Amino acid sequence: MAGIAPLRARAVRVINILRALYPSAGRGETAGSDTRRPFQVMVATIISQRNRDEVTEKVSDALLRKADTPDKILKLGRAGIAKTIRSANFYKTKARHILEAARMVRDEFGGRMPRTREELMELPGVGGKTADIIMLVSHGAAVVPVDTHVQVVSQRLGWTTERDPEKIRADLHRLFEPKVRGYVNILLVEFGKEICRMHLPRCYACPVEKLCQYPNKTKPPARKAPR
Ligand code: SF4
Repeated sequence: MAGIAPLRARAVRVINILRALYPSAGRGETAGSDTRRPFQVMVATIISQRNRDEVTEKVSDALLRKADTPDKILKLGRAGIAKTIRSANFYKTKARHILEAARMVRDEFGGRMPRTREELMELPGVGGKTADIIMLVSHGAAVVPVDTHVQVVSQRLGWTTERDPEKIRADLHRLFEPKVRGYVNILLVEFGKEICRMHLPRCYACPVEKLCQYPNKTKPPARKAPR
C-alpha cells in the first residue's frame, strides 16, 4: 500500500463523516449480531451468511430461544435445527455446521468457545469473517470483519486494491488504528445498504463523494418529462 499517510488521513475523514451519519452504530456491533455471548454470536452469524437481516434476526431468535448452548443444540439435533431455521437460505448446510460446531465446542474445547481467531476458524461454518465478528462482538478485539459491504465499499473508496478478504482485512488493519477498527464494519454495512449500494451506488447523494476514488460514479436518475 503506497502513500499510506494521505490514504489514512482520507480514510479517517470518511469514518468520521459516517460516524456522524450513523450515530447509533457503536463499537462492537455488527449487522446481524444482537448478542455478546460467543456461542450465540456464532450461531447468529452462521445463519446470517447470504441472508437478509430481517430473516437472520427472526430465525436466530427462534433457534436461540429453543437452544442457546452447545448442549441444547446437540439435544435439538440436526432435524430440529433445520426445521427451526428452514426460512434461512442454505438451512440444511447451516444446520449441519451449527450442530457440528456445537459438538466440537463440547468435545474438543471443553464446552467453552475458543478465544483465538485461529481456533474459531477450526469450527465448521466459521471462516475469517465469522471468527472476526465473534472476536469483535464477544471479546472486544480490534478487528474489521470483512463482509461483502466492507469489501466493495473499501475497494470503491480506494482503500484497497485487493480482492481476497484476508488481504483486504490486512489493508484495513494497516489503515485504521485499533481504537477505530471496531466501528468500521457496522459503518460500512449501514453505508453500503443505504448509499454505496452494491449494485448501483448513489454517488449523487454521497457525503464522502469527494474522498472516493471510484471511477464510475453515478449521476441522479433522469426525471421523466411531464406529458
Ligand atoms: S462516491 Fe459512490 S462509490 Fe464512492 S463511496 Fe460514495 S456512493 Fe460509494
